Amino acid sequence: MTPIYNFSAGPAVLPREVLEQAASEMLDWHGCGMSVMEMSHRGPEFISIYQQAVADLRELLAIPANYKILFQQGGGLGENAIVPMNLVGRSAQPATIDFVHTGSWSGKSVAEAARYANVNVAAKPAGSFTSVPPQETWQLTPGAAYLHLCTNETIDGVEYNLDNFVPTVQGDTPIVADMSSHILSRVFDVSKYGVMFAGAQKNIGPAGLTLVIVRDDLLGHALPICPSAFNWKTVADHDSMYNTPPTYAIYIAGLVFAHLKRQGGVAAMEQQNIAKAKLLYAALDCDDFYANRVALDSRSRMNVPFYLGDETRNEQFLAGAKARGLLQLKGHKSVGGMRASIYNAMPIQGVQALVDYLNEFAGR
Ligand code: PMP
Repeated sequence: MTPIYNFSAGPAVLPREVLEQAASEMLDWHGCGMSVMEMSHRGPEFISIYQQAVADLRELLAIPANYKILFQQGGGLGENAIVPMNLVGRSAQPATIDFVHTGSWSGKSVAEAARYANVNVAAKPAGSFTSVPPQETWQLTPGAAYLHLCTNETIDGVEYNLDNFVPTVQGDTPIVADMSSHILSRVFDVSKYGVMFAGAQKNIGPAGLTLVIVRDDLLGHALPICPSAFNWKTVADHDSMYNTPPTYAIYIAGLVFAHLKRQGGVAAMEQQNIAKAKLLYAALDCDDFYANRVALDSRSRMNVPFYLGDETRNEQFLAGAKARGLLQLKGHKSVGGMRASIYNAMPIQGVQALVDYLNEFAGR
């Protein structure tokens, strides 16, 4: 049977080993006679699942002790409102939030935040979203409530190089990073950020879980209009169980974290992700048959959008890919073309199978 490789941008491929373990534990978790889905979130079984997941994530990302890990709901778009509701109360009013607008997702964040504060687009590339504007061009607001970055634009395929990127802000303005589509794919220094958030459905686990990592001093400033269930301090004070958390999604995320640890952790994943991205971009760059339009230093290792030179052949390309078990390669409807998302759980064999097909389709 042809192996299936799923290039979806999210919900996305999960490690097979994790799905197999979940299947084997579906009806009876560790002999307790219940499925994880049926357990009280306040019972000892689920509490142990939750505590292990938090501890493993803290270890994987080397999250310092002065940061809380919150498991929320509402997704990345929910955080676009939850973040301002929790942070704008910290600064002098009327508050201003700075944004670097690098693509579709940071654009949505600007629009949502405008309901809660003044927004300043500190930088935006001229023309299409194909690069991260150089930091020296950012027009930051002194005393801004926070600076929002989307460190990997899932649709546009634009990623900050977090190795070289040292965010500089004035005063105590915290940096908020939407890391939905590349968290756990590369090593980065948590202590440079005030808040990091991510919808789970790419590198973490099932949709419905939203991860928030927040520095302690940023808790306790929520606006009165902020729903209690989205007030980070309330959520933190209740170990993410102020309301019922997405228990099954947390369980799967925990299996993914344990799996990542067995693979050698985030540094080992990063090496694999570099190798996979190199392989794929080399096939796209080798002539004009395909094009990825992102500047070399801003290319995402996770989401690789590309266009055929002859776009009338798009449907033929996708049908041929499907016949070879290469699924969900159609680009986002807002930008067209193709997109291959190659998250942690995509094996290099999947990328090689895609590269073989790219070469075959191009008649190379
Ligand atoms: N931010 C980024 C970077 C994303 O990729 C996505 C979803 N693809 C979102 C935010 C929105 O997430 P959600 O659909 O979970 O609200």
